[in-house]
Amino acid sequence: MNWSNFKKCSLVLLLGAIDVFSWILWWYFSQGKTDIQQWINQDFYQTYLSMLSLATFGFFVFIFLIWSLNKIAFMDKIIPYITIAYFGLIFIYGAYCIGISSPASIAGFVSLITVGLVLFERRVVYLTIVPISIFILISIALTLTGKIAYAPIFSEKLLTMPLYKNEFWVYSMLYFYIPIFFASLVLFEILLSQWRKREKMIEHVSIIDPLTGIFNRRKISENIDMLKQQQSSFAIVLLDLDYFKDINDKYGHDIGDIVLQQVAGILTENIHEEDIVGRFGGEEFIILTRGGQLVKAIDIAERCRKAIEKQVILLDTHRKISITASFGVAASINPFIITKEEIIRQADQALYLAKKNGRNQVRHFLEIKIIPSIESKRVI
Ligand code: GH3
Ligand code: MG
Ligand code: MG
Repeated sequence: MNWSNFKKCSLVLLLGAIDVFSWILWWYFSQGKTDIQQWINQDFYQTYLSMLSLATFGFFVFIFLIWSLNKIAFMDKIIPYITIAYFGLIFIYGAYCIGISSPASIAGFVSLITVGLVLFERRVVYLTIVPISIFILISIALTLTGKIAYAPIFSEKLLTMPLYKNEFWVYSMLYFYIPIFFASLVLFEILLSQWRKREKMIEHVSIIDPLTGIFNRRKISENIDMLKQQQSSFAIVLLDLDYFKDINDKYGHDIGDIVLQQVAGILTENIHEEDIVGRFGGEEFIILTRGGQLVKAIDIAERCRKAIEKQVILLDTHRKISITASFGVAASINPFIITKEEIIRQADQALYLAKKNGRNQVRHFLEIKIIPSIESKRVI
């Protein structure tokens, strides 16, 4: 959860205060019904109410302290410990009141540990949960040996009968657990929506080139793998902007970036819907076309070449930039045989030929066979 510790702790403390306040309401509700009065321990009234009022007040004091001290850097590390310890202490008291081994106490304990682990660092949760658990075990031992009362908010009459047969006890268990359950649910919902958002963002970052907004090399590589797996034939157009270094040197890197963005836009506009374009790196782009027909790929490359050549980027009234690109095309006539690296190498060799022949032109891999001396060490 990408909230600050201050925000998380305040939320936990606020939910704690609301929860404890609901325990106070429980007493008033039970007290007000004549048929229920017999099930609650009247002698415990004073202790219960003063302890819980104090606990509610304590929650607000901690919220106030947290917000007053949130400017102090090291407080950010300490407040999760304080929050969990205080919350745990109040929870143990509540659990003791309703019965330390009652269903609401146990379910609440499990829910709170889970929420704690989701919200805070594991170290903080374990460091506070261990003493709390020991405390709970001691309380269980003390109640079993009769040293302290078990579930002192309930009357003797209720505790001596089978608990599950007492409707009031069953509803009370639900009443005490349901707020914890809903609070956990809300927190998980917040967390899950944040996770989903982050997942989408990570996916976007992993496949999109941040400068041009088109696919990156990884995504193109994945698509080639997919086409090969489907045993579909495909073709590759590799293009490299001509004398791009001069643009950077003359107009600056920022203008160079704008040119790259414009070229990405031109390429996107000039490919078919089923084809994809990506940034291969630097000032090089790659187009992946389905079908594997060399003529079709050359046609796309030629269309893109003309569109880039035609585009004029106006810097101001006096200065305008024109750019050209060289293209290399290769087709996987037989997708079973050719490897991804091989087809890229062929496209790269064709591109090299286009550069060598004077740039601003489209060359294809079948022309390479005639000039075997052209070497490429390209990997994808
Ligand atoms: P050629 O026609 O032989 O391809 O010449 P060139 O100048 O385009 O080739 P070279 O490889 O010498 O230069 C490529 C330049 O592309 C160098 C590098 O600074 C620039 N470049 C690479 N990535 C970026 C980028 O993201 N933004 C900008 N503005 N420039 C980039
Ligand atoms: Mg280059
Ligand atoms: Mg270049």
